[in-house]
Amino acid sequence: MEPQDTTATVCVVGAGPAGAMLALLLARSGVDVVLLEKHADFLRDFRGDTVHPSTLEILDELGLAGRFHELPHRKLETMGLVQDGRPMLIADFRALGLRFPYVVFVPQWDFLNLITAEAARYPGFRLWTRAEVTGLLRADGRAVGVRCRTPDGERTVRAALVVAADGRKSVLRAAAGLRPRDRGVRMDVLMFRVSRRDDDPDERLTVRIGNGRVFVIVDRGTYWQVSYEMSAGGYDRLRREGVGRLRRDLAELVPFLADRTTEVTGLEELPLLQVRVDRLRRWYAPGLLFIGDAAHAMSPAGGYGVNLAVQDATAAANLLAGPLLEARRTGRPPDDRALARVQRRRQVPTVLTQEFQRLFHRVAVDRALRGDRVMGGAGRLSSTFERWPFLLRLLSRMTGVGLRPEHVRTPDAGERDGG
Ligand SMILES: Cc1cc2nc3c(=O)[nH]c(=O)nc-3n(C[C@H](O)[C@H](O)[C@H](O)COP(=O)(O)OP(=O)(O)OC[C@H]3O[C@@H](n4cnc5c(N)ncnc54)[C@H](O)[C@@H]3O)c2cc1C
Repeated sequence: MEPQDTTATVCVVGAGPAGAMLALLLARSGVDVVLLEKHADFLRDFRGDTVHPSTLEILDELGLAGRFHELPHRKLETMGLVQDGRPMLIADFRALGLRFPYVVFVPQWDFLNLITAEAARYPGFRLWTRAEVTGLLRADGRAVGVRCRTPDGERTVRAALVVAADGRKSVLRAAAGLRPRDRGVRMDVLMFRVSRRDDDPDERLTVRIGNGRVFVIVDRGTYWQVSYEMSAGGYDRLRREGVGRLRRDLAELVPFLADRTTEVTGLEELPLLQVRVDRLRRWYAPGLLFIGDAAHAMSPAGGYGVNLAVQDATAAANLLAGPLLEARRTGRPPDDRALARVQRRRQVPTVLTQEFQRLFHRVAVDRALRGDRVMGGAGRLSSTFERWPFLLRLLSRMTGVGLRPEHVRTPDAGERDGG
């Protein structure tokens, strides 16, 4: 479909987990929604690929759990840490009484394709890819739409509500003059692949730490997805030392990959992600709502970001579908009080999760990156969990379910073909 200047009840900016899920839920409730994504597709590597038990429940409530499990995926019932060569368990989802007692690793592009394909079954849904939002349209002090760059030129989308789900570098945050408060977590992460062999250990996801280095390795079937974590500014130091340093560290901390380190040919071509944790004081302005990383950027620690983004989307749909259907009938857009309810609902879980991530960075990641032992070493941590098993259960529940899990409360207004 060629993008034309258009109107919709809602314009959602950014088809990441937050925006795609919100667009699906609203379209399913009968709201007409335009979803704008600056990329041509979802085929980007090294994005959060974890789908947690609470998101799986949401998919189940939408009737999508079956199709989701048909996607190429790997289930993770436990998560491990290897410190100075000693393994230990840091999460176990099996004894939590969950409907889906595991985290699923699924390429994010498959997950987003599933969500947007489902949304496309509803008549109110439109997806524009290669539509990069460049600014807000305003009238009488409120947002009334966006401007976007498309291959066919500049277009406008006018809407009763604009939802910014455009991630941690949100253009709309800047356009609205809002600055998030930095929560002081900084880390550089280099991502790369190393091939996997059939006789490699069955590690699924493991954090390996030692000598001031942290690797997170994830089994992606035919290859290992490796994150190399450094304190902020670590990348500049690594560039001075060269790729040889990275290869030596990999061989030392992940010995079974020692014979494949030359697969990392140079540093320049590897994607560098700069981790940050921040949060807006107010997640809304007249006519404009922020959700997901645009409202609160998350660190990868614990893999909470995708899950929180989906939870925000579910809460926003539950609270706003009614006012948005009303807006369509009356022409009166939802007021600030309706938007404030979304922030009130999600504020506490977000703040507590971010505080937990900050604590985790202080007591674990930062110490590991300084070369100090994390919480007295793997042996001491294991015996702490043995002595007080509820601590492991708490950590597992926090990781798998999070705080205040959301459920789909919006109705299904019927599909395009009535089927
Ligand atoms: C190194 C790293 C690793 C991570 N790993 C994990 C993990 O394993 N598990 C996990 O749960 N979380 C992880 N996270 C966090 C997670 O990626 C985010 O919290 C999550 O993606 C937030 O989802 P979102 O939909 O809010 O934003 P995003 O996923 O960032 O999606 C935003 C979307 O908006 C689009 N967009 C941006 N600007 C515009 C524009 N101007 N116009 C149109 N479209 C636009 C983008 O292309 C993108 O598709 C990681 C983060 C980092 C930095």
